[in-house]
Amino acid sequence: MVRKQIETAAVAGRYMAEYYYELDNAAKTGEKKIAWCTSVGPAEMLRAMGYLVYFPETHAAMLGATRMATDLIPCATALGYSPEICSYLTADIGAFVQGQTPLAKAYKGIERIPRPDILVFNTNQCRDVQDWFDFYAKEFNVPIIGVSGNVGVKDVSRAIVTSVARQFESLIPTLEEVIGARFDIDKLREVIGYSRQCSDIWKEVLETAAAVPAPLTFFDGATLMGPAVVGRGTPEAVAVYEKVLAELKERIANKDGAVENERFRIYWDGMPVWGRLGAHSKLFSGLNANVLASTYCSSWIFTALDPADPFESMARAYTELFIVRSDDYKDMYIKDKIDFYSIDGIIYHNAKTCRNNSNCRYGLSKRIEAETGLPMLTIDGDLNDMRCVSDEQTKTNVEAFIELLEERK
Ligand code: SF4
Repeated sequence: MVRKQIETAAVAGRYMAEYYYELDNAAKTGEKKIAWCTSVGPAEMLRAMGYLVYFPETHAAMLGATRMATDLIPCATALGYSPEICSYLTADIGAFVQGQTPLAKAYKGIERIPRPDILVFNTNQCRDVQDWFDFYAKEFNVPIIGVSGNVGVKDVSRAIVTSVARQFESLIPTLEEVIGARFDIDKLREVIGYSRQCSDIWKEVLETAAAVPAPLTFFDGATLMGPAVVGRGTPEAVAVYEKVLAELKERIANKDGAVENERFRIYWDGMPVWGRLGAHSKLFSGLNANVLASTYCSSWIFTALDPADPFESMARAYTELFIVRSDDYKDMYIKDKIDFYSIDGIIYHNAKTCRNNSNCRYGLSKRIEAETGLPMLTIDGDLNDMRCVSDEQTKTNVEAFIELLEERK
């Protein structure tokens, strides 16, 4: 039994192709400046200034999904980057030093990643992104600027929002200097407006999974989310999700579930195991289980964005993210999702090289289990380094977990 494909995924795929070709063209011709940005960095500011925006994390996820990552990680290790740190970072730097990119396989004519004119980070998610960008700043001899976000935030206070907003504003002079143009607040408002629209419609797409049976899976979401990550702030990304949403609504009306005979509804916390996305999809759907919602895919929902209040609302949006928050907040958030999606059980992916996205290390998973009575399972693995993944163990543990859920029905 396999999951049913989403037809409009092809629309998202075309968007990604156009996105990479535009970047490649800019890198070759020099017609537009390119800013590299962390996945939850201030992309709106960069777009508003006229930069094309490239996201190394998306490239690193492609390295994982194409299973190129594991062989490339040791090349970064040889440069002194530990195999214990972010395997997005190590795979990406390994690919760079080896002159390899999955873009060359996916998109004819593209030979390399687009050279940056500036690197812009936000450490709201982790420190690894700054170290990662530091490497490239030296390699390309270009400026690196960024924002030091907060971590473990319980309440998103005014003091935090103000501090982050001022940091965003302080990026402007360097952004102006590199691109040779003045910052335009009205352009930023316009981009934030599109970003908010993209965020809202992406949220709607993900929330269709509350239907029984759910019309999509986490594995669909992990690939469908490309335009929400790289295209936020553009009307084209909004148009992609209008089409996806229409298809999903039609599926709901027809009671057309993504997994045939959906019997178990699972929540996934943590990163995908990119090199096993297809295998995990088959494993769960073969057991009539739909992993239908995740913390990860929701990371690109920025409900606070408000064109009327650009800097403060960006600061709030990028601080309200799950990854930035305290365990108290995460506990509340996951319990809310359990109710909203009518979840039967939770899987926590304990990713060896990303503690920031592994929420089962300090007792949170067990606390939620005790509070809700809902079974949980921890899968040890990794986002990109397949040396940390045991397929046999995952299969055995998931099968036992589903048996447990069956007993509770
Ligand atoms: S959050 Fe995790 S996976 Fe993402 S860049 Fe940071 S360490 Fe890597």
